[in-house]
Amino acid sequence: MIFDSHTHLNLAAFDKDRREVIKKLKPEGIWVINVGTCLETSQKAITIAKDNKNCWATVGLHPSHLIPAKKDENEISEKNLADSNSVFLKPEIFDERFEALLEESKVVAVGECGLDYSYLNNFSSEEREEYERVEEEEFRKQVQAAKRYHLPLCLHIRDLYEDALGILDEESYEDKAVFHFFTGNKIQAEQIIKKGFYISFSGVITYSQKMDEVVEKAPLGKILIETDAPYVAPEPYRGKRNEPIYVKEVAKKIAEIKKLPLKDIEEATFQNARRLFNI
Ligand SMILES: [Zn+2]
Repeated sequence: MIFDSHTHLNLAAFDKDRREVIKKLKPEGIWVINVGTCLETSQKAITIAKDNKNCWATVGLHPSHLIPAKKDENEISEKNLADSNSVFLKPEIFDERFEALLEESKVVAVGECGLDYSYLNNFSSEEREEYERVEEEEFRKQVQAAKRYHLPLCLHIRDLYEDALGILDEESYEDKAVFHFFTGNKIQAEQIIKKGFYISFSGVITYSQKMDEVVEKAPLGKILIETDAPYVAPEPYRGKRNEPIYVKEVAKKIAEIKKLPLKDIEEATFQNARRLFNI
């Protein structure tokens, strides 16, 4: 069995062939968690989870939805946009509508939420300062919600690992969490794991040797694997639309780096995901 612990079959990139993509997973023994990025995609993740035995959902608000960001046609289809004339998405806040979704069945985590200032590059310094504040505030709200609903956190943190750990500390967050799409260094990986949290590796580890040392040192009991589909397909599918079935390439790369049988990587990461998300 294999767990793609972070994917997005709930996004518009799969609107045309979602059923076929999911159908391919069953014979391969692949289970998936479809991660919510805003209200609409969180709702969609829940619907998919209710319809498919091997799918679960998370509910959360991604940092890119806190600002008037450019629309991503892979994420939300044009027909679902309230204002299709605008090239920008309307910013959202994590409010009671999200909290209501946390009570739905098959919701296994809060997120993806966190810190990512890479979306703020085109703003003025005043706007930047304001949006950094908003990111932090919305992140703290979701950490608090995870505590209240006894759900783990699915974290989207770009570069700002120390800041995120600081916020989790200040919020006295002692439950489970995963740092998805981990691309930090070995010291940051150690700090995260020392806190009892998990790190998740994506297709990016197949692109170069940059992450090899981190992968090699990361304890098998603390790692997950993911595709983050439809984005960042692993080699040899780089550049194509990513799919959960390609999660095997991430497992293969870890097996190669750790010099362990592929089965051991698949089994350990599968069990880790089940333990983390209480599945
Ligand atoms: Zn994601």
